[in-house]
Amino acid sequence: MTRKPVLIRGEDLWKSYPTGKDQTLEVLKGVDLEVRQGEIVVIVGPSGSGKSTLLHLLGGLDRPTKGRVVVGGVDLFSFSDEQLAKYRNKRLGFVFQFHHLLPEFTALENVAMPSLIMGKPLKQCRKHALDLLLDVGLQDRQEHKPAELSGGEQQRVAVARALMNDPDIVLADEPSGNLDMENGLRLHKLLVQLARKRGTAFVIATHNHDLAKRGDRILRITDGKLVHAGRGKETE
Ligand code: ADP
Ligand code: MG
Repeated sequence: MTRKPVLIRGEDLWKSYPTGKDQTLEVLKGVDLEVRQGEIVVIVGPSGSGKSTLLHLLGGLDRPTKGRVVVGGVDLFSFSDEQLAKYRNKRLGFVFQFHHLLPEFTALENVAMPSLIMGKPLKQCRKHALDLLLDVGLQDRQEHKPAELSGGEQQRVAVARALMNDPDIVLADEPSGNLDMENGLRLHKLLVQLARKRGTAFVIATHNHDLAKRGDRILRITDGKLVHAGRGKETE
């Protein structure tokens, strides 16, 4: 069996934050990571261990103190700001613990936004966004504003939005961290289903056990390093 191509590689990633006069907090201390096409990689570790920090580096939202993030053979941080913004919008999707939907726009408009920003034709954007709302079971909520949706529904809209530009990878930071158990389970099943259907890779930071065990690979951040922590079941 041929292995799928590597989409993104973190090489010897270090990250420290200044914490006051002459003091720094070393969060990541040499993290190596490869993510292949279509795989679901779960990052676990207690609160404060550096999960969000790692996702921020992989997503080009923050720079490592040392090390590289390589995509298509190129260091992400050698891109110009414009190239980086373009790469992020086209190749990556983001899902956060809090949905970050735009309150004054409808669910459909929120989903369509990443493509509208790229200047794609409105009609095409609306059609694709509607297909995605169908995929996440919210086709009958398209005209609702975020405040008119439940927490679980808001998060499913955020997932649809993350997939709008057909990214290679979705980075999800505690995607069910703000949901009750039932809505969390529903979201976990949906994430795996969408990853399989579309062949999208997911890197998911979570301390939720149910979500972790659905991954293809589980990696744990321990003392600033990433260690293999088991393999979950393949799919539902
Ligand atoms: P996790 O997502 O696993 O809970 P984080 O990556 O958010 O962990 O944070 C790791 C550590 O780095 C924590 O101790 C946190 O307080 C610290 N940290 C995160 N971001 C910053 C920042 N911008 N400035 C200073 N310290 C930070
Ligand atoms: Mg975090």
